[in-house]
Amino acid sequence: MPRLGVLGWPVAHSRSPAIHNAALAALQMDGWRYQRLPVPPALFAETVRALGAAGFLGANVTIPHKQAALALATDCSAAAREIGAANTLTFAPDGTIAAENTDAPGLISALGSMIDMPAHPRALVLGAGGSARAAVWALREAGASDVAVWNRTPERAETLARELGVRSVRTPEAADLLVNCTSVGLEAASGVERSATQHEALNQLGLTFDQVGKYSYVVDLVYRSGSTQLLAAATSHGAGTVDGLEVLVAQGALSFQLWTGRQPPLDVMRRAARAESTATA
Ligand code: NAP
Repeated sequence: MPRLGVLGWPVAHSRSPAIHNAALAALQMDGWRYQRLPVPPALFAETVRALGAAGFLGANVTIPHKQAALALATDCSAAAREIGAANTLTFAPDGTIAAENTDAPGLISALGSMIDMPAHPRALVLGAGGSARAAVWALREAGASDVAVWNRTPERAETLARELGVRSVRTPEAADLLVNCTSVGLEAASGVERSATQHEALNQLGLTFDQVGKYSYVVDLVYRSGSTQLLAAATSHGAGTVDGLEVLVAQGALSFQLWTGRQPPLDVMRRAARAESTATA
């Protein structure tokens, strides 16, 4: 029975099992199963090395293992290497472990729903962690005319910008597209304290409500039940928005295709992600 899963610590909140199991059922891939794999950092390497022999064909990787996943893979794509993180592992019968990063193309694919967005937007990325690295790399590769990075800890933004060949900024600048890659807005259930008010949440991103109006297109990688404070503010200003669930589905669909060779049923995956969202609201 081919097995798939998502490695994380914690991973209880992950919507990936619902998304992938719905896709497997829709394609009548009987016997396939996608499961949560809660693995603490100390056990990550030995667990991953054992997964292939245990019948796993592939695994997604989430917080805090994306860099470790890249480090222990035997092969990796150019994208994963340049980003410095992998969110998708594929296990071959000969024991090789291939690492890919589908967060980056997943973001670009999700941006496709913003129909009027300029082909070469000026972009501002908030954050300097793993997902910010993937977003910056993806936007640069997709032809953004300018990519700037802002982070609460400016030194991390400077390092990221230097390594990926973009600019860092000390205060958020105006741009066509704003992409939030910080964890501001996550629910308390995910282990991160949710901001009490919209003002406080935007403030943690270096923004005020009025300043959010400077961005015509806003993406929030954070996904939670209901809208995040950032997306609520963006919607009030009439901006086009993409939420974290859409990006999650897009990256998951690319991983699914990589492992199964099948065309992912995107609408089924979207519905599963949002049904679970309603269930946990
Ligand atoms: P990470 O590597 O831990 O980076 C976290 C980032 O958030 C850092 O830039 C950090 O700034 C910033 N941050 C944390 N708390 C903050 C606060 N109170 N105020 C301001 N900045 C704060 O995490 P990640 O892997 O990049 O993930 C970031 C978020 O994206 C998470 O919510 C994750 O669930 C989400 N995500 C979603 C998808 C998707 O498919 N939808 C994919 C990947 C990630 P410092 O450097 O100053 O600490």
